Amino acid sequence: MQLSGPPIPDKWQSAYDEHLQALEGKVALVAAWLLLVTVLIYQFSHPLRNIHSYELLGLEFLFRAPVILASLATLVRHYCGRFRWPSRYFLRLMGLAVMAMILSMLLLYLKTGTSGLYQISNGLVISFFGVSVLAVRELREWMLLFLLPLAAFAVVAVYLDITLTDILPLFFDPLVMMVIGMIVMESLRRVLTSEFEARQTLGEMAATDQLTGLLNRRAIWPLLNHELQHAQRAGTPFSLILGDLDLFKKVNDTYGHDAGDLVLQETARRLEDALRRQDALCRWGGEELLVLLPDTDSNGALEVAEKLRASMADSAISAGDNRIHQTISLGVASFQNGDDIDAVVSRADEALYQAKRNGRNRAEMARPCDTHPR
Ligand code: GH3
Ligand code: MG
Ligand code: MG
Repeated sequence: MQLSGPPIPDKWQSAYDEHLQALEGKVALVAAWLLLVTVLIYQFSHPLRNIHSYELLGLEFLFRAPVILASLATLVRHYCGRFRWPSRYFLRLMGLAVMAMILSMLLLYLKTGTSGLYQISNGLVISFFGVSVLAVRELREWMLLFLLPLAAFAVVAVYLDITLTDILPLFFDPLVMMVIGMIVMESLRRVLTSEFEARQTLGEMAATDQLTGLLNRRAIWPLLNHELQHAQRAGTPFSLILGDLDLFKKVNDTYGHDAGDLVLQETARRLEDALRRQDALCRWGGEELLVLLPDTDSNGALEVAEKLRASMADSAISAGDNRIHQTISLGVASFQNGDDIDAVVSRADEALYQAKRNGRNRAEMARPCDTHPR
């Protein structure tokens, strides 16, 4: 249920949906077991509850069957991996089955006038509360799970000549419980949302370099490993570019540390602008940056490195009254069979060293490695 409250920021929406889906999966599993057990107990404890009439046993089972089937389908999905629909569909299915069951039972007992009405009204209270807590995600869902079954119930009641005065007293408590259930659910949703946002914020802070806003070294590591595994499995290439600002110490010494920081921030912005969406840029160390280029061979990577170099060399950076001409040197290395991440980084580092030795403001390609120690 999402009656109000601030929406989740766009960038976190898909992570939030995943989080909700995982939660709904757990709730669906508990609900399925609970429903299956209680419905079967109700069905077979019939002789104990002798206020119920024996003649209605078969009909009652017919009304309970959809709940049993919906719970079984949810359990099959969970344990056997069948039915790939999201858990929320199963929650809806179980909610609808419960509403159909309890309202049909009510009609049956109203019509046959047996003495089980007291138990049915208890069942109504439990069902209304349970369904509103379990399955209500938003207002539309509330209409599906409550308005639709209640409308169908009203139509059948009219058809069966059941009067409003027979029905209304029975609905007071269930409707109150439905509202309480919705309030409980909304409060829970808010707690979950704020806890999710706090966790995302912390995660982002831990992954981000404060000065430049780029990924930090720790955060790019999983991406590097993912790319390595992909390359090993599928044989796709990937490349790394290690960049180091040229004579950056002099910038600090000449213009001050703040100006140096500004140059670093502008460098991050220019490099990011020059890269594709799927590339990852990280602050590898002080004034060293690492670029991960998925699905890129050495020729492609050298082109990108040249673009990065030009993005720095082509125009000066304004820092207060000063115009700072900052260049960058880059070393490029591509994945080869047998490589681990350290091996590719180390070749990129050698190439970077070569670029510095060859006069800076240039990109150098790492020499391919012939052999790998086994
Ligand atoms: P080279 O071309 O050989 O790389 O020369 P360099 O002066 O860049 O060499 P070196 O790697 O020795 O110097 C890096 C400098 O970067 C030293 C350090 O003070 C500075 N630095 C590292 N991190 C930061 C930072 O966050 N802010 C500022 N302003 N400076 C930083
Ligand atoms: Mg440097
Ligand atoms: Mg350096």
